[in-house]
Amino acid sequence: MTLDKPSVLLTGGAGYIGSHTYVALTEAGYRPVILDDFSNSHPVVLDRLAHLTGQRVLCERGDVLQTGMVAEVLKRYHCVAAVHFAGLKAVGESVQQPLRYYHTNVSGLLSLLQAMDSVDCRSVVFSSSATVYGDPASVPIKENFPCAPESPYARTKLACEDMLNSLAASNPAWRIGILRYFNPVGAHASGLIGEDPHGVPNNLMPYVTQVAVGMRDKLRVFGSDYPTPDGTGVRDYLHVTDLSEGHVAALRALIAKNQSFTVNLGTGEGISVLGVLSAFGRASGRPVPFEFVPRRAGDVAQYFADVSQAQALLGWRATRTIEDMCRDSWHWQQKNPDGYRTSMSSMQPASSHRNQEPAMPLQPTVAGTA
Ligand code: NAD
Ligand code: UDP
Repeated sequence: MTLDKPSVLLTGGAGYIGSHTYVALTEAGYRPVILDDFSNSHPVVLDRLAHLTGQRVLCERGDVLQTGMVAEVLKRYHCVAAVHFAGLKAVGESVQQPLRYYHTNVSGLLSLLQAMDSVDCRSVVFSSSATVYGDPASVPIKENFPCAPESPYARTKLACEDMLNSLAASNPAWRIGILRYFNPVGAHASGLIGEDPHGVPNNLMPYVTQVAVGMRDKLRVFGSDYPTPDGTGVRDYLHVTDLSEGHVAALRALIAKNQSFTVNLGTGEGISVLGVLSAFGRASGRPVPFEFVPRRAGDVAQYFADVSQAQALLGWRATRTIEDMCRDSWHWQQKNPDGYRTSMSSMQPASSHRNQEPAMPLQPTVAGTA
């Protein structure tokens, strides 16, 4: 198969961050190819992506641990690079099931890299996490701060970084971009794609939107006695669309400038839990009921990025505000009360949103799914 645009494999491309990056890469002139086993995503996302981009979605259903199949896919689509999102991401679950986390996250990356090596495709962007820093001695966090991962999940991410750095040292043909995400939130401005957590959300923003829409009665704010300006935990929330654009910038830097790098992707601004609640109230017009409860085990007081490296190396910086993040999360939640189980025809109209729906008819557009 020959394609006029550079093809990029997105493992886990049907998931939350992968689907947004799919849109950003398409808009930037790449041809993304999704490889996903749908263990934590819904195939309906493919219809939404076709609707949003107006293009056939290339997707293969499969497990990244199947090295031979991954090599075949890379070859079939002439991929020039891969972005590796596929993996498990729940910190608490990783404490209960460490072997599953090492298998999927560490062996999954190993499998992808072996497949890439076998077909001479040696540019890869990896989804790492700010959780590799553990509890930092100070903020903002720079990339050269010591890593002190505290959970099995965080340790799998650091093990993956080590594997990638060893590979880069072994052969200069490898171009490796390690992206340490801070707290991705929000949804595409169309309300067609967003985060669709299964069960009770662990993370703040999906919990807040579910309270606001009436699915849960109130937010429990974990801790009011942290050494932060208002006593609640401070994080660096980043709009998922900014994050997706960070991947485009990372790929460009890898391919065009022949660089390898490890960078933080965040806004550089710390916002407290109460700060998020107040931004959410402004963006949605709905106050969110909450109560203070004791701190959550393992949480750190504050966490935000030094983003100067991302600006210098990738020419990227986040532009969307916390109000944008809240508004788009709320828009997604309102339009999709059942997440991806909400059919397009029964989607709730957005009451107060600036963006229009794409006016395209929905067609069967998925190629190559098994
Ligand atoms: P997600 O669960 O929404 O997406 C991951 C996708 O990978 C899912 O579609 C899932 O079906 C797929 N997948 C899982 N195992 C697979 C396998 N063995 N083979 C093929 N596909 C597989 O997660 P996300 O929030 O989009 O996160 C993407 C990546 O970013 C993950 O590696 C995660 O650890 C990392 N990350 C996420 C966050 C966050 O807050 N969301 C923060 C830092 C880092
Ligand atoms: N948080 C909270 N109630 C919740 C979920 C999260 O008060 O139901 C707080 C949490 O203690 C932290 C912040 O919100 O201070 C962000 O938590 P999240 O789990 O989203 O991200 P992480 O802690 O992994 O950075």
